[in-house]
Amino acid sequence: MSILVTRSSMPDFEEYCAEIRDLWDSHWLTNMGDKHRQLQRELEEQLRVEHVTLYTNGHLALENILAAFELPQGGEVITTPFTFASTTHAIVRCGLTPVFCDVNEEDYTLDVSKVESLITEKTVAILPVHVYGGLCDVSALERIAKEHGLKLIYDAAHAFGVEKDGISAACFGDASMFSFHATKVFNTIEGGAVCYHDDGLVQRLDDLKNFGIRGPEDCAYVGGNAKMNEFQAAMGLCNLRHLDREIEKRRAVDARYRQRLEGAPGLKLRAEQPGVKANYAYFPVLFQGKLSRDRAYELLAEQDIFARKYFYPLTNAFDCYRDLPGGPEKTPVALRLSQQVLTLPIYADLDLQDVDRICDNLLSNL
Ligand SMILES: *Cc1c(COP(=O)(O)O)cnc(C)c1O
Repeated sequence: MSILVTRSSMPDFEEYCAEIRDLWDSHWLTNMGDKHRQLQRELEEQLRVEHVTLYTNGHLALENILAAFELPQGGEVITTPFTFASTTHAIVRCGLTPVFCDVNEEDYTLDVSKVESLITEKTVAILPVHVYGGLCDVSALERIAKEHGLKLIYDAAHAFGVEKDGISAACFGDASMFSFHATKVFNTIEGGAVCYHDDGLVQRLDDLKNFGIRGPEDCAYVGGNAKMNEFQAAMGLCNLRHLDREIEKRRAVDARYRQRLEGAPGLKLRAEQPGVKANYAYFPVLFQGKLSRDRAYELLAEQDIFARKYFYPLTNAFDCYRDLPGGPEKTPVALRLSQQVLTLPIYADLDLQDVDRICDNLLSNL
């Protein structure tokens, strides 16, 4: 049987059926129903953050929070090209301009020593990504954003459940976006959320995801439709019950990879971050020796094992961003990472014998 880079977490069939049973009584399928509101409350508790607003996916959550801050059109947003298409697309689709900053060699997040030199009078926000669930240098970014009066919005799509010194990743900056896509550590099939402290944002975010409609005869904003429906929320309620166990099983997979691959010639693993409680969302390996990343990908694929070149290509190398300044040659660390990194399969039910098989394959080809 083939092994894919990830495998969605699912509750038992019976558990999900029991959770959706009341929907056949209420006939209330979407528009902030009971499941939606319950999941929102449970996530505020789980992530220990004042406010959670739920969305039908993470991407629209990001677009909505950018819209909610009403940043001036054409404003510049300092961000990373070492990310998924969504981050950069959200900035552009909101009428803002991405300014690409390079990343650091240690955890592949924004290089905070390079952020300030990119700030101009047009800069309105910083949008960093907690890559692979590894946290950005949140205190340095906080300081820079404060000093220059910029919004600080995190793409925390990878960071569900991650904490630093006991503080939840949902609490940093002005807001954080989480994705609950099927491939993420916690899923609602498709889904997402914005987490934040500011009470003033609650009504606006609720309005924006529902066409800007505030009441039956009152439309306050030019909003779209980005509501999470009751079946998605029900999946979230079920998956949340099993989250700790799932992360624990992922931890065992991560530990086995580290035990087998740490110190192997030509391979570089990402260091564990001190003080950070990880979620083991991804297992990235850099191929820096004789065995190239692309060859490693092929060798595994020959055995029906599908790792992922993630992230490759950089978003500033996309065809659609050819005309933006700040191409891949301006972010050399990110460019090199995108050519060397392969994320290996990791999910809760991945057999440790399969992890060994993956490691044997790689080690015998170094
Ligand atoms: C998954 C992901 C998104 C988008 O989330 P969706 O829920 O799929 O819309 C955005 N940014 C990053 C870094 C992601 O990995």
